[in-house]
Amino acid sequence: MLKKLTRFYHPKTIEEACQFLGNGEGRTAVIAGGTSAALRADSSLEALVDISHISELNYINKDAAFYRIGACTRVQDIYKSPDLKGPAGKLLQAAAGKIGSTLLRNAITAGGNLAGLFPWSDLPVAYMALDAEVVCRRGRPKRTVPVMSLIETRAPQFLAANEIIAEIIVPAYGPGTGTAFAKLAKTANDYALISLAVRLTLKDGAVNQARIAVNAITAQPVRCLDAEKLLEGKVLTEELTAEAANKAADSLNIRKDIRAGEEYRREVFVVMVRRALNEAFENANRKGGQQ
Ligand SMILES: Cc1cc2nc3c(=O)[nH]c(=O)nc-3n(C[C@H](O)[C@H](O)[C@H](O)COP(=O)(O)OP(=O)(O)OC[C@H]3O[C@@H](n4cnc5c(N)ncnc54)[C@H](O)[C@@H]3O)c2cc1C
Repeated sequence: MLKKLTRFYHPKTIEEACQFLGNGEGRTAVIAGGTSAALRADSSLEALVDISHISELNYINKDAAFYRIGACTRVQDIYKSPDLKGPAGKLLQAAAGKIGSTLLRNAITAGGNLAGLFPWSDLPVAYMALDAEVVCRRGRPKRTVPVMSLIETRAPQFLAANEIIAEIIVPAYGPGTGTAFAKLAKTANDYALISLAVRLTLKDGAVNQARIAVNAITAQPVRCLDAEKLLEGKVLTEELTAEAANKAADSLNIRKDIRAGEEYRREVFVVMVRRALNEAFENANRKGGQQ
């Protein structure tokens, strides 16, 4: 597996980490929570740069409009944070809380869950539904990109050799927005069969912005754009949610594996989308906003 690995760096700052990554001394990669190291197919790696203890990558901050989450913030810290509130905070916590076990959540990082993208990765769908942005750093220089760009291209291709994900920026949203997260897995510790995040932002009682993001049922996270479009500009009714759920399912290239077939996943998915839309709609209509 990691047969050629001979060097392990422990930088204290982002700049130092990027220097190690870009020093051209053989194949070098980042390690954060380290939970996917065993799955790495890359046996050519010679050096690892452990960014997990860089303090400027470990935080959850909130200003007037955004949550800012350092890339090495543990998923358990997101799940338990008292600072994450409202529709965005609750969606992030719901997704984080559904990831594996406490042991795993104590290791997995907000950025690692995004960079090491698997069909069962849960946080990316929440980031997508919230229209999050990602700050990528090459030492001091930084660029801020929509999370969709990083997901569609995939981190290893998107990031330069000396570049890391440093921060995830999530709009906080306020009253009038509701979110919901749902996951189907055989056991709490097993990989997801379906991962689903929904956001509805209302205006004058109708859906102004709809986001339906899914993973696990597909090979990589995607948004159900046709269903989102169908919902926008309309007042949610039972018929509309049912139509949107079917449209969402129709738009997917549904995966099958030893855990579940295509037909089963589709049937459950339609029910999950309907319920999640209703839950998000209810949350959006809550007096004082979703708490
Ligand atoms: C038994 C088990 C069950 C699991 N169940 C789930 C689950 O239900 N849901 C779920 O979402 N996840 C689950 N995971 C976690 C998932 O499979 C990945 O292992 C995890 O998301 C990787 O995060 P990490 O912080 O450990 O990153 P690492 O394993 O350290 O890194 C993953 C990849 O991302 C890169 N990387 C990491 N951080 C950065 C960064 N800041 N910038 C650039 N590149 C970076 C690394 O170079 C590597 O290629 C499970 C893992 C295990 C072992």
